[in-house]
Amino acid sequence: MIADGSPITERLLEQAAALTPRVVEWRRDLHRHPELGWTEFRTSALIADELERFGFAVRVGREAVVPEARLGLPAADVLEAAWRRAQDEGASAARLEAMRGGLTGVVARLEGGAPGPTIGFRFDIDALPILEASDEGHRPARDGFVSAHPGVMHACGHDGHAALGLGLAAAIAALRERWPGALVLVFQPSEEGGRGALPMVEAGAVDDCEALVCCHLGAQSRITGHVVGGVSGFLATTKIDAVFKGAESHAALEPEVGRNALLGAATAALHAIARHSEGSSRINVGVLEAGTGRNVTPGTARMQLEVRGENDRVLAFVERRARAILEAAAAMHELQLQVEVAGRAPSAASDTAVIERVREVARHVPEVVRYDHTVMVKASDDAAALMQRVQQRGGSATYFIIGSELAAGHHMPHFDIDDRALGIGVKMLALIAWSLASRPLRRARPAEAAD
Ligand SMILES: [Zn+2]
Repeated sequence: MIADGSPITERLLEQAAALTPRVVEWRRDLHRHPELGWTEFRTSALIADELERFGFAVRVGREAVVPEARLGLPAADVLEAAWRRAQDEGASAARLEAMRGGLTGVVARLEGGAPGPTIGFRFDIDALPILEASDEGHRPARDGFVSAHPGVMHACGHDGHAALGLGLAAAIAALRERWPGALVLVFQPSEEGGRGALPMVEAGAVDDCEALVCCHLGAQSRITGHVVGGVSGFLATTKIDAVFKGAESHAALEPEVGRNALLGAATAALHAIARHSEGSSRINVGVLEAGTGRNVTPGTARMQLEVRGENDRVLAFVERRARAILEAAAAMHELQLQVEVAGRAPSAASDTAVIERVREVARHVPEVVRYDHTVMVKASDDAAALMQRVQQRGGSATYFIIGSELAAGHHMPHFDIDDRALGIGVKMLALIAWSLASRPLRRARPAEAAD
């Protein structure tokens, strides 16, 4: 049931179908070995090794991420322990060396045998600090691919994304001689918390991409066979770590000596920030830790908060007001305040030109039972930073949704994706790549004109 009769389309569909069991295997391997943001050492090494086997030129370490641009980096001992674990789990030492200290992520490139455009795809690869369910009702536990790293879990489907990227790579590599242009695959670390995209933007990962395609499994659609061509409504976001520093004292013997950091943090009336007429905003304090004992004035309070806005101006407004309130709260209680940005993502919208290609392609994938043009996503994904970079340089981008039945919601201990969605995902990706490579989109303006 090949609607356009193109032999390449047919060939890619066959390739994708033949590769699906391998994609499921990759996903299960990654699911069993989840790694948190900036510690995706084993994951990155595995991806790099496979891509090299497929004939891709691979960039890792400083060639993939600009170290200084990394946000929300774990402590050095945490990075080192994770790095050593990756070694113990069999990742090649040579590959790991370049990533030591949290330089995870992979950028890979395949030059086709014919002239054509450069098309980019982005896949995120990090896991979450969640204890995975271990009961028999949970398929990964029943089938032996439950997380081997207690307290860390692929509960957002990024294991599936990485596996899809490898499947796409394998499918295209088989057609390399006839492929028009180049294929760039970006395997991005640290999506959770919006920490990994900017360092890849800075490293120029997508600079010559005329189109960029990002995807997510299951988000916004729990129907296997449902595809959504693009998203709108991505919120720009800044993640902030605030530390209030005061002075400890005995709360009864000399309370006047103390400077109560907990009180200072609790006084910050962040939720009273006004709305903005240009769009919706969000603010949340998710973590507040302070104090050592009932009769001690708390000397330190650590707060993790996030702000979001419908566009960059709304975000800038909420962020500026939040910082002012934190500072004023600290001043009111004679505290020192340290504020650090732990993550950041802009807003971005999918381009109609690329969404149209997703729609065309969806018609050729028999398992696609439902298609929607766009969905409003009131959340954030730092893929937006890579999309924005491509768009600013005259290219086009989309973030499309591959629907999947889910055992539980995203970020839940029973989360699991449907293997059939992986099969559909590889087919969609391979055909989107072919569509964009064989019939290039018109650029909005030349790359030279932009910055
Ligand atoms: Zn996700």
